Amino acid sequence: MRDGHGRVIDYLRISLTDRCNFRCIYCMPEDGLSLMSHDDILRIEEIEAIVRAAVRIGIRSVRLTGGEPLVRKGVVDLVGSLAAMEQIDNISLTTNGVLLPQMAGDLKRAGLSRVNISLDTLDADQFTEITRVGQLESTLAGIDAALQTGFNPVKINAVTVRRLNQDFLAFAKMSIDRPLHTRFIEYMPVGSSGGVDGTGWGHEDVIPSEELLQIINERAAAEGLPELVPLDGKDKPLGWGPARYFAFPGAQGTVGFISPLSRHFCSECNRLRLTADGKLRPCLFSDEEIDVRTALHDGGEDAVYECFLQALHLKPDEHHDKVGTERNMSQIGG
Ligand code: SAM
Ligand code: SF4
Repeated sequence: MRDGHGRVIDYLRISLTDRCNFRCIYCMPEDGLSLMSHDDILRIEEIEAIVRAAVRIGIRSVRLTGGEPLVRKGVVDLVGSLAAMEQIDNISLTTNGVLLPQMAGDLKRAGLSRVNISLDTLDADQFTEITRVGQLESTLAGIDAALQTGFNPVKINAVTVRRLNQDFLAFAKMSIDRPLHTRFIEYMPVGSSGGVDGTGWGHEDVIPSEELLQIINERAAAEGLPELVPLDGKDKPLGWGPARYFAFPGAQGTVGFISPLSRHFCSECNRLRLTADGKLRPCLFSDEEIDVRTALHDGGEDAVYECFLQALHLKPDEHHDKVGTERNMSQIGG
């Protein structure tokens, strides 16, 4: 179905929990967030009922996210029941990768189609600085597990923050020898995370994708590597979404740039978000939410379907550079 601005909406991102085994500086405050109580979190059967209503408005792809979706009990069974819905073509997951070594096989067998793994640096100390508690090897092991299990494509999401001075070329080079699709994401003003020094998000920390592409090409040239070449549709990884893709000539993977701030993709936005406590969010950057959980309790799946129609109607044309949201990324579902 189309929303009020003519866009086809066929993609639902579902936050399975606001809990996480990391505390990334751009996502959560250092002391964590006051967590939703277990009673507030959607039960697995409620999520299934909401997705059954969602397919009636034309949702065909579902992404499971969070918080860390793999810490949510019942995630494998949920993948299985979503995969059994014949209208759902695609189930994907965004994860920090830590639990993939033990779960990737079960997730694949249950019907998970694709995996995105978040990783912002290949430097072990910087990894712990960014995640506050994580170890680089654990996420790297998750990437290995995803490849070994046969997920394709495996995408790596890296948030870029100017003051962190990440080694972007090292990152882009990961795509050369392995079929990894690394994507750089502009740091977004969502919620009240601590940011690099505890002061939160600031414009000065955003590296516009165009500038980043130039930085990578300059550093590549300094190492005698060729420039990144833009890809056309047929060479882009499946489910390429809002990223612009490039590749080093002959590389197995690609390098993508996601520019929610410097190059809005609002006109192509095809998604709705479901928070872990059962609120439907038409736009990441707008705090407008529809209470689908209450609708489900009071009126069943028909009432949830009405909520989806309302979300289509409420979806804004663009985010108008709004800075900040009430809820953090881990609560909304990044
Ligand atoms: N825990 C999982 C993970 O890290 O992949 C899934 C949830 S996380 C909120 C989803 C994505 O949002 C991650 O790729 C993360 O890097 C990204 N993210 C979180 N806060 C962000 C911010 N302020 N700006 C840009 N991306 C952000
Ligand atoms: Fe956790 Fe993902 Fe947020 Fe990092 S980005 S704190 S891994 S939810």
